[in-house]
Amino acid sequence: MYRTHTCGELRLKDVNKEVRLAGWVQTIRKFGSITFIDLRDRYGITQLLFNEKLTEELDKNPLGREFVVQVKGTVSERSNKNPNIPTGDIEINVSEYRVLNKSAVPPFTIQDDTDGGDDLRMKYRFLDLRRNPVKKNLELRYAVNRATRNYLYENGFVDIETPFLIKSTPEGARDFVVPSRMNPGEFYALPQSPQTFKQLLMVSGYDRYYQIVKCFRDEDLRADRQPEFTQIDCEMSFVEQEDILQMFEGLIKYIFKEVKNIDYTEPVERMSWEDAMWNYGNDKPDIRFDMKVKNLKSENKIFLETLKQTEFAVFNEAETIVAISVPGCSDYSRKQTDELVEWVKRPQIGMKGLAFIKVNNDGTLKSSFDKFFNESQLKDFASFCDSKPGDLILILAGKEERTRKAISDLRLYMADRLGLRKADEYKLLWVLDFPLFEYDEESNRWVARHHPFTSPKPEDIQVMINNNPLIENSEKYLEHPYSKIKANAYDMVLNGNEIGGGSIRIFQRDLQEKMFAALGMSKEEAQHKFGFLLGAFEYGAPPHGGIAFGFDRLCAILGGSESIRDFIAFPKNNSGRDVMIDAPSTIDEKQLDELQIKLDLK
Ligand code: ASP
Repeated sequence: MYRTHTCGELRLKDVNKEVRLAGWVQTIRKFGSITFIDLRDRYGITQLLFNEKLTEELDKNPLGREFVVQVKGTVSERSNKNPNIPTGDIEINVSEYRVLNKSAVPPFTIQDDTDGGDDLRMKYRFLDLRRNPVKKNLELRYAVNRATRNYLYENGFVDIETPFLIKSTPEGARDFVVPSRMNPGEFYALPQSPQTFKQLLMVSGYDRYYQIVKCFRDEDLRADRQPEFTQIDCEMSFVEQEDILQMFEGLIKYIFKEVKNIDYTEPVERMSWEDAMWNYGNDKPDIRFDMKVKNLKSENKIFLETLKQTEFAVFNEAETIVAISVPGCSDYSRKQTDELVEWVKRPQIGMKGLAFIKVNNDGTLKSSFDKFFNESQLKDFASFCDSKPGDLILILAGKEERTRKAISDLRLYMADRLGLRKADEYKLLWVLDFPLFEYDEESNRWVARHHPFTSPKPEDIQVMINNNPLIENSEKYLEHPYSKIKANAYDMVLNGNEIGGGSIRIFQRDLQEKMFAALGMSKEEAQHKFGFLLGAFEYGAPPHGGIAFGFDRLCAILGGSESIRDFIAFPKNNSGRDVMIDAPSTIDEKQLDELQIKLDLK
């Protein structure tokens, strides 16, 4: 028997017990003629005491960090207790030890605060995984997994696996493809999601399906994306939006309780997509704090009148002017406001500048555009922004889309600076009533905002059927009836992150065909790509809808981290590489031959 206990287990009550432990050498400290060794395993650390005789043996054959050893000995009370670890009251008086395996000197320290940089830790991820913080993340991930399975099982869901070698499922990214040796010249696509399969399962009558499943999307990787990631993928039959919202806010609340012991009893807030964009500049607002966006160049007629009287070209010529009132910052110094100006000018934000008004506590106003606005105009401005004494009003002006995104980023940035985004506070939000279509300038046509299987709102179905999708005047696409069609779709947002999204689906062949046509697909193309689904809809497809949650992201947020990578055992880097196994990599000539593939690298 290698061990009777783990390294995290022994306490004062075990004193005098004969035990065996096995684990990795964390530290070695020699004190005169005796040696202390911290032995580590998954469960904790236990101090070992090597007496004089054993120390002499160690001198002849030294142990090193990360050696794997087994010891036999007696538990004894420590004179010098360590209150920082659960086993800190005891140590093992070692009588025998055995080296089970040596270790090369690890390239970084296996400690909570390691000296290893990101790249090194990824190359030796198997060592990085020995560290406590990473281990905690993986344990949290498993807790979320268990809670999910429990809740869905209790609610009658069945876990059904769907294939990985399939045909394209459009979720807005490129497919990863796999050549078929047995069918030369043909390729499988890896699923961007199990979307079509879960819908087919509804046709088959499995009215509550789920799967915790890998999805694959070949897209340029931002910091928080991975080419393969995990979804909690769900689908239900005979449901309307309300059924889905209730079932799945139930799931997230259950996970909160099980994993974080948080009683999230209040109802989940709901917001239309339009309100989200209007009041927060973004469709996944963080509602832990207020600081709503003020839209100054819209229907705010009084403000427009004020603007006309001034000669500030930046404002007068801008398509959009938006502002936020940041509390308690009216005393910002020149240096601090300059910093903000630089911040919005960074390429990621892309604004030309930032205007501001300080609403001083004594009631006076000071702006960065005093030249153009007199005091009463400034007062008007501040009152349009509902500002209070002590506020710093930050104003951006420019093109609609960029400016709105910038103010949303600035809102989050200021909240971070003010500590308003508290890690231990959780605020859920449903965003509803998304547009069904988005206009794609490049191809001058409509693309699906969610995916092509999403149903329009019942009241908009006729609008879709009765109108030609063709956009005759690209400048006026906003006037096309399709731009007004709302989707029967919903996103769940947690602390400013989209953690899940789904929709009620189209379940009739003719409407689905109409949808494909609206997206510019010919009848033949639709049949070639999705004939199986269209065909299935002819055999009694029930009304259905579903949702998928980003599992990695949900874990990261619950673990208080920005990065999903920390919650994935073997993640890829930003170029999509696994630097540990060195993938992707070239393959043998022979393999290429078998696949009848010739490379023509540009
Ligand atoms: N398949 C969708 C996605 O991956 C989720 C859904 O509509 O259920 O985003």
